[in-house]
This record gives sequence, C-alpha cells and structure tokens, in this order.
Amino acid sequence: MMLLRGRVMSCGMCGVVRGVRASLSTSTTSITPQVCIIGSGPAGFYAAQHILKNHKTARVDMYERLPVPFGLVRYGVAPDHPEVKNCINTFTQTAAKDRFTFLGNVAVGSDVTLAQLREAYHAAVLAYGAAKDRTLDIPGESLPNVISARRLVGWYNGLPEDANLDVDLGIESVAVIGQGNVAIDVARILLTPVDLLRSVSLCSKTDIPEPVLSRLSESRVHHVSLVGRRGPQHAAFTIKELREMVNLPGCRPHLHPPDYTHLRDLIPELPRPRKRLLELLAKTALDKPDAKLSAAYASATRTWGLCFLRSPVEVMAGPAGEVTGLKLALNRLEGEMGQERAVHTSEMETTECGLVLRSIGYKGVSLDPSLPFDPRTGTIANEDSRVKGHQGLYVSGWIGTGPVGVILSTMTSGFSAGKAVVADIDSGRLDVSHSRDGQECIRDLLVKKGVDVVSFDDWNILERHEESEGMRLGKPREKVTSITSMLDIMHH
Ligand code: FAD
Repeated sequence: MMLLRGRVMSCGMCGVVRGVRASLSTSTTSITPQVCIIGSGPAGFYAAQHILKNHKTARVDMYERLPVPFGLVRYGVAPDHPEVKNCINTFTQTAAKDRFTFLGNVAVGSDVTLAQLREAYHAAVLAYGAAKDRTLDIPGESLPNVISARRLVGWYNGLPEDANLDVDLGIESVAVIGQGNVAIDVARILLTPVDLLRSVSLCSKTDIPEPVLSRLSESRVHHVSLVGRRGPQHAAFTIKELREMVNLPGCRPHLHPPDYTHLRDLIPELPRPRKRLLELLAKTALDKPDAKLSAAYASATRTWGLCFLRSPVEVMAGPAGEVTGLKLALNRLEGEMGQERAVHTSEMETTECGLVLRSIGYKGVSLDPSLPFDPRTGTIANEDSRVKGHQGLYVSGWIGTGPVGVILSTMTSGFSAGKAVVADIDSGRLDVSHSRDGQECIRDLLVKKGVDVVSFDDWNILERHEESEGMRLGKPREKVTSITSMLDIMHH
C-alpha cells in the first residue's frame, strides 16, 4: 500500500508558502520532473518535442526573450523561402501539448537569472542560439553604412530591435564580406526586383514588412559583390542558393573567368555536393549561357559578383564620413588541399562601394558567469549536450554547436539534448526525488518585477492579427515589428 504524506512547500526564492502537496513516500514516481528550456527556436522546440514524447510525466516550460516564438525560423530564414518555415507546424503541435507551457517576453539573464531557474527546475536546457555577430576589427568598421548581415536580416524579417535599422540604400554598390548562405541571402534580397518580393500575383509570398518593402523600392543598389578570403572551391553557400542567383530576374552574374579556369581540374576529385556546386560555378563563369538566360541577362540592370582571395583591411570614408570603398589585402593559399589557409600578401587593392555588410558569422554570448563559456567560439562546453561540470544543465542548437548548420542539424542537436534529459531522469543521474516548483515560483518573481509574460495563446492572437493584416495586403502576414504593439494586440 502506498502511503500519501502531506508536505508544506516553501519556495526558497520568492518565500511563497504553497500549501499542502501530496507526495508518495514509497516511491519518487509521483514527482513530476520539471524541465525548463531557454529559447524557442528550433533547438528549443526539438528538445521539447523529444522530452514530451519520451517521458510520460515530465513538464516542459519554454522561456523566450521575445513575445513571439520560433527564433531564426521567423527572424533569420529568408522571407522568399517560406517552405523552410514549415517546421513551425511541428513546433505548434508541440506547444499544444498539456505538459508544455510557453512563457514569452521573458529574457533569461535579466528578467530572471539562470540560478533562479535552476533552483525552480530539475533540469534546464540552454537553447538560446547565437544572438550577436563576429566583428572584422578593422579601421572604418564603425562608419554608419557598415552593418552586420545579421542586422540587415533582422530588418527585412521584421525583428523588433532592427525595425528602424539605419541603412542607406541610396548607394549603387554593396560589398558583402563572407560567402556563406547568409551572405547570399542578403545579396538576393537586395537584388530581387521589389515587385517580385511583394507581388502575390507573381507567385511570390514574402512576409517582408511594408516599411521595408517601401525602402527596398527606393533602393539604388545595382551591384553586390561577395568577398571571400579563399578561392571558389571554398565558397560556403549551397547550390540551391547559387542557382537562385544565376536565375535571378533582372540580374546577371559578373564573374571574372580566370578565377574559375582551374576549377574543372579540381571537380572530379571532389565529393558530390561540392562537385555540383563548382560545376555550376564554372559553367556560369566560363560557358555561354543558353538562349533563355542570354536574353534575360541582356536586359538585366543589376549584377552580382564573387571576389576571391581577398581580406578586408579598412573601410574607406569620404569627407562626410560616408563609406566610399573597401581596402582589400590579396591573399595566397597555404597548406594541404582541402585545408588551405588564406595568408595576406603585401599586395592591396581598393574596391568602390557605399555599403559594407559583414557576414562572417553569428556569435553566441554567455547568459551567466558560472557557465563554461568559450568566448572565442561563442559556445558552451558540453559533452553529448550535457554542460560540463553542471549537473542538470544541457545545451541544444547553436549555443552548443556554434552558429553553423541548418534546421535539420539543429533538430539532431535538439533531439540529442532531449535524449540526455530523459536518460538522466530515467537513470537517476538527475535527482528528481524532491519536487520543484517550476513556473509557479518563477511567475511570482516575474510578476514582482513587472514582466508582462505572454502565453502561446497570446501568440496565436497576434498570429491571427498578422495574418488578417496580411490578407488585406495580399501577403501571408504583415509582421508587427514593435514589442509594445505586439503586447497591446495580445492583451486587447
Ligand atoms: P535560434 O533560432 O536563434 O533560437 C534561439 C532563441 O532563443 C531565439 O528565439 C531567441 O530570441 C531566444 N533567446 C536568446 N536569448 C535569450 C534569453 N536570454 N532568454 C530567453 N530567450 C532567449 N536553416 C535552414 O534549414 N534553412 C534556411 O534557409 C536557413 N536560413 C537561415 C538564414 C539565416 C540568416 C540564418 C542566421 C540561419 C538560417 N538557417 C537556415 C539556420 C537556422 O536558422 C538555424 O539552424 C537555427 O535557427 C538554430 O536554432 P537555435 O534554436 O539554436 O537558435
């Protein structure tokens, strides 16, 4: 026979006495494992999905800095790639589970500390991504039209903190530093005719906010160059993105054939995805386009290019402090094939541009001084998702892996974190013999601090509002870009 014993619970943090709770004296099975997840991007949602599916009683509370969920799926993935955002459907199903709660508009580290969460929960999963970016550390980097690609991406995706980004598009030429998928995303958005970005009749379905579309329609940008330290064989974008650039309406590639002549000798040695990428690159640079492309290129008014073996050393400014160009060091490659490093030569050159976009990687930050955080990589040291030296603490996604990889690899990371949590509960490695207050106690703290916590139902209200505004404008949604307005809509 199991004996039920009453217990008076008092929270060490908020001092609230919670009344009598039943607990089983002969077994710990009645104690609900309380898990919190920090961050509501793919890393957070996939970890939640795994825990809820594979543990029968665990509760998952997800804390998110913004009043809206989904991280970079909403605010990073390019708006002209809506199909990539389909994972939101799976996340929404997870959010509908009984044992899941979304607590939005709560910034961990300022509204509530990690230590407070750790006291209230048996386990905490850090899934808060990489919210900053790397810098070049070169003279001129702080000039007005030198901006991180991360912020431009935030701007055209309606991220509240970048809604009023001060970017001057009244210039003709843009240099993007970096040759990854983010670099190619920003180039494509800047070069796509604005009618294609806004017009549903042309089958485009972007949710770029109206004020951004209006600014893009006044843009005078007609050339974007992507600058890379190494050669074409090292370009980090994928073939899908390159194909889109090759076929971009109103735009033609402006490539320097001698950069590509050696590629055809390299191609047979390469693994398949790289082989296909370089074949397309070599074909575009060296072969005559077919009749259809030739006709399209003949009427194109915008161009894009790739600039290899160059490292920026200074952003040049005119008399009024405006960006006029980029000073580049020419590089040579050293080291074995496949592991070549770029080394500056003494040669320099200058390229004209009026806007410099830094696209050299996102970077994670530390939430708490107790974390084993590596400032060089911007990641938290972990072994199989378990934070080193911190029992009950786990990482998922970019804050553990670094800002690399697509949603699929983040899913693997999220599942790995979820698996570690469940395995540790089941094996007893995680002590769940005493109940924890979970969100009850944290909510009290947040109320005292005047934090306006929002729920997933609140998000649904905002989502419906955005969709109906979008319908009016002939687009999937019109994003609300101010946090105050979001909260107003949710609560009225
Ligand atoms: P994030 O998605 O960044 O989520 C982290 C969440 O944590 C955010 O919601 C953030 O607000 C929250 N947070 C941060 N700090 C706190 C805090 N202190 N307290 C509470 N919450 C906090 N992948 C693809 O598969 N296809 C694509 O086309 C694609 N395009 C991309 C385009 C860009 C510009 C970028 C940057 C990435 C792209 N990716 C794409 C990659 C994909 O977005 C990532 O793999 C994925 O979003 C990483 O997930 P995450 O959960 O680790 O981080």
